Amino acid sequence: MSLLERAERNIDAVAWQGEIPIQNRYTVGLAGERFLRELKESGRLLGSRCPECDYVYVPPTLYCERCFEKLDDWIEVGPEGTVVSFTIVTQALDGTPLADPDILALIRLDWADSLLVHRLGKVSLDELEIGLWVKPVLKPKNRREGSILDIQYFAPAYHEE
Ligand SMILES: [Zn+2]
Repeated sequence: MSLLERAERNIDAVAWQGEIPIQNRYTVGLAGERFLRELKESGRLLGSRCPECDYVYVPPTLYCERCFEKLDDWIEVGPEGTVVSFTIVTQALDGTPLADPDILALIRLDWADSLLVHRLGKVSLDELEIGLWVKPVLKPKNRREGSILDIQYFAPAYHEE
């Protein structure tokens, strides 16, 4: 079917098949930059609190997604938090099995309302559960780059380092 006829389904149109390699750069924005700079320089985790609805965002945002209020009340959150949900990743993006599965979790840091996605580490499957109390394990200060990966992973908070 050509485009000159009315296609009922888009898969009926004649099309070129191929792949387009795409790269992108997504800036972290003003709030994200402040969050990552503080993480790099002091190891502290910052959130932004809405003065109207009292919701605390981590990573911080400049505007409240719930009531659109401008946010300029920065507070320290965590560093401990609670696992709200998790998944165990057993394959790489290309489908090859991972020798050591990754555990990704949604974490609600203490004093925050929104959730942070990060990797869990030093946790056994026996102790992995919703409600697990965790703390961030940071890279040494001289190796931090101002990235969310300056947090290597979150580990059970009751483990000794
Ligand atoms: Zn709000």
